[in-house]
Amino acid sequence: MQRVSDKKADQVTVRRFNMSAILKLLRERGTLARADLAKELGMTRNTASNIVTDLLQAGLVVETEFRRSGAGRPGLLLELAPNGGFAVGAEIDINRIIVIAADFNGEILWEQSSGISPSKPKDDCIREAEQLVQDALDWGKGEGLKPLGIGLGLAGLVDSENGMLTYAPTLNWTHVPFRSMWEERFELPIYIDNEANTSALGYHTYSDRSKAKNLAYLSIGVGMAAGLMLEGHLFHGSNGFAGQAGHMKIRTDGVNCTCGDKGCWVTEVSITALSRKADLPDLDLRSVAQLLREHDAKLLEVSDEMAEMLGLGIANLVNLFNLDTVVLGGAMRPVLPYMLEKTRAVVDQRALKQPRANMRIKVTGRDNDSVFGAACLVLDTIMNDPVPLVRSLI
Ligand SMILES: [Zn+2]
Repeated sequence: MQRVSDKKADQVTVRRFNMSAILKLLRERGTLARADLAKELGMTRNTASNIVTDLLQAGLVVETEFRRSGAGRPGLLLELAPNGGFAVGAEIDINRIIVIAADFNGEILWEQSSGISPSKPKDDCIREAEQLVQDALDWGKGEGLKPLGIGLGLAGLVDSENGMLTYAPTLNWTHVPFRSMWEERFELPIYIDNEANTSALGYHTYSDRSKAKNLAYLSIGVGMAAGLMLEGHLFHGSNGFAGQAGHMKIRTDGVNCTCGDKGCWVTEVSITALSRKADLPDLDLRSVAQLLREHDAKLLEVSDEMAEMLGLGIANLVNLFNLDTVVLGGAMRPVLPYMLEKTRAVVDQRALKQPRANMRIKVTGRDNDSVFGAACLVLDTIMNDPVPLVRSLI
């Protein structure tokens, strides 16, 4: 026989599941009528209606214009409340800190950045990031919005479960306990993850809606990492360090890598590799893109060579994970479109036919997937389990 406490626990689980499903469907579709919401999610109208009432009361959902098309009574449509609260997203990169504020609907409403360099002391960089985060929070307060949390994306090895930056090779930072530091300072929930993971999440959540089920977001800059979204969820691995695609071994005779090994993928495909291969020590990506547009012979050769190695690595990932989407992004984005055609051709040639069928490779259209995804860490946590927030609001 089921005990009363078990029954209660089951009810809470079902309620969490249903509430989460309603919020996610509204995020995906924009607007929906109550009846369609219930129908699409296979809930009774009564169940859906009860949950919607709570979400309306909590201010996370609003009623919007009447639907007048079709037969029957016109009804009010539901949508996520833009002013249901706001999430702060931050990214500390090798040369800049960027902070945004996004509303509950995922719209970026505020954005500020500041330049840093790897030679700047760690504490100064962190203080600068904290100031920008504080500015974002102050802005939200001025708008009368409730802060929901802060997400942070970092290049390097991030232990997201414990909220710790373990090692950032480009900045040469080790063991920075961002979550405990920032929870104390800002008194808000703090989420941190690797920037390739936040990029994958940001891209998947809003650029792509839910079309991609198995996605790799290759963030290519000075380093290279893959944000893996498998079966619709970010894949972190046993210790949280999955996705170090840049250190996949791709050559036996390659050049030395910063990790201490040689022949890693990042030594063939990255800004550092481009600079070495093109013999341009002070490489400026915009001028490289310009030269590629003008069919500069030397750069076309380098770019083709790099596209070949990019395609080889992607073919390995596709064979391994049977991906449906590979997104290319990161600081190297301005030159990636020039490598796309060749990369696709190499993947077609080298990956197994069945896993690559219907697979798409694209260059992201935005340069802020990562910081946006950092804000999505906050929004997604609420979408996955809205019950505590709803309870605190009604
Ligand atoms: Zn390596």
